Amino acid sequence: MAPAIPQTFSTFNIPPTRRHVETIDFLLARPSLELLPEALRPSARGFLFYLATLPTSAPHECPACASRSIALATPAGTHGLRRDGYYCRDCNKRFNVLSGTPLRLLRSEEKWKPWMSYRFQGFSQELIATFLGISNKASMTWSRAFMEAMADYDTELHRWWEDHQSTHISELTDEAEKALEECVARLTELSTLTDRHCPYCGSSSTQVLTSRRATEYQCHGCERRYNNLTETPLSHIQHMELWPEYLRLLVVGYHDTEIGERLGLSKSLTNLWRQRFLEFMQARWPLLVHWTLWQWSRRRASVPSGPRT
Ligand SMILES: [Zn+2]
Ligand SMILES: [Zn+2]
Repeated sequence: MAPAIPQTFSTFNIPPTRRHVETIDFLLARPSLELLPEALRPSARGFLFYLATLPTSAPHECPACASRSIALATPAGTHGLRRDGYYCRDCNKRFNVLSGTPLRLLRSEEKWKPWMSYRFQGFSQELIATFLGISNKASMTWSRAFMEAMADYDTELHRWWEDHQSTHISELTDEAEKALEECVARLTELSTLTDRHCPYCGSSSTQVLTSRRATEYQCHGCERRYNNLTETPLSHIQHMELWPEYLRLLVVGYHDTEIGERLGLSKSLTNLWRQRFLEFMQARWPLLVHWTLWQWSRRRASVPSGPRT
């Protein structure tokens, strides 16, 4: 039986932009916190809850002097106030629940949690601005404010997230690393396999014709010829020896141009390879595609080149 080859990414492009509908659908369909290390997901979930509930919660202490002796002074609605106003019995300062937090100047609080949730899912600030109908400038301001709030909320989560926003090559999570290893093992298998069943009729009665590259066979069932890559997204892709390195560079977010320079591939080849390898990964290692899209959108400009670490 010929394996079904998903064609979803025939028009696949990275980074996702508003026009790349398939890419966006793919990202939206992924488990929302899957890019994060498993150990940090509860904290990320907590942070989202914090963003959703903070504006309507009550403060515990005075933001100016940390006194717990506080009282409600002006309930929301008084003089058109949007939030309950409190005062501090010790220092007499007036404040609300957002006073003294990085979120105090942000508007549209009903969109804070969705914003951060999209961000955790790997979308760029610009795309999220479009999704939520806010300006790019607001999206940038929110990004800074949320990063600050995250640092206050959980330093470990903040450190990991911040590291993975930088343009330096960042480490994969254990999960992504494992997927990458599996995927590379599969590529190696494709280059060494010598007993592939016929992809057309499923027959195992076949004969190896040449095993110089991507072993070629003759099927005794349907009489057709095929090789290890026939009917896979990687058919007719050359230079198998470069595949494992290519895959890693792609997944950690290198651009076509840079990969081309490193591996000596032309622009049209890197373009073709990207499409085909993403398609190859999509079927069994969607996390790697997710990771690629995310890291790629993050590394749009001023990418440092240099030895891989
Ligand atoms: Zn006070
Ligand atoms: Zn056959």
